[in-house]
Amino acid sequence: MEDKGDLLSRLTSGEASCPICGAPLKPASGEWECYYCGKREPADFVCINGHYVCEECRLASGEEIVLKVASRSSEADPSLIADRIFTHPAVDLFGPIHHLVVAASLLAAAKNAGAELSLSHIKRAIARLKPIPYAACGLLGVCGAAIGAGVIVSVITGATHKSDRERSLAMETTASALKRIAGLGGPRCCKASVYASLEVAVPILREEIGIPVVLRDLEGACMFSERNGECWGERCPYHPRGRTA
Ligand SMILES: [Zn+2]
Ligand SMILES: [Zn+2]
Repeated sequence: MEDKGDLLSRLTSGEASCPICGAPLKPASGEWECYYCGKREPADFVCINGHYVCEECRLASGEEIVLKVASRSSEADPSLIADRIFTHPAVDLFGPIHHLVVAASLLAAAKNAGAELSLSHIKRAIARLKPIPYAACGLLGVCGAAIGAGVIVSVITGATHKSDRERSLAMETTASALKRIAGLGGPRCCKASVYASLEVAVPILREEIGIPVVLRDLEGACMFSERNGECWGERCPYHPRGRTA
């Protein structure tokens, strides 16, 4: 982890760039809002596009960023919440953090759309998802992002192994997300798995549970393809050039 001295020398040498958009940083005055947690505070540096990251968020772990962004979000579209989380340097390009992002972004969006949910529901979902290991898709035959979609249905409906409709709906959600992810092909792309899971979960939240979350058109919307050396390129519906005319 970078310490304060390293950051200062990079800033003064002009090497530092914005973790969110990659643009150069510039000296700042006045108060700025942290891109991740929304806190306003005096800032010494912001990027030329106006992004500011507070010290606490700069040093946060991936899981901490998931919780911070979900807590401060106001969007009813989970993909906007997920994309904000994905920009943080502690959120790996691949890995189990994506399972948490599906659940946290959907629950936060549901809360923002009027559902009676709180941070404790998000933490409950995360606790259920954390035992799912890296590479579960290939090793276990189930992707944790799809499970993330099923978990939020379970958390919202209060499903247990003894429930009737709630249990079926949670499993149907996971199964539908999994089928969609499997249909995309491989090698795995955790961003594509998240987007596919959101595309499955949002209509279920709206139509089966009655929570008016929304989802923008994700076709061609991925901003992370250049960071992924194994990106499927035009074969991927979320890749900017994969968009069908
Ligand atoms: Zn920036
Ligand atoms: Zn912050």
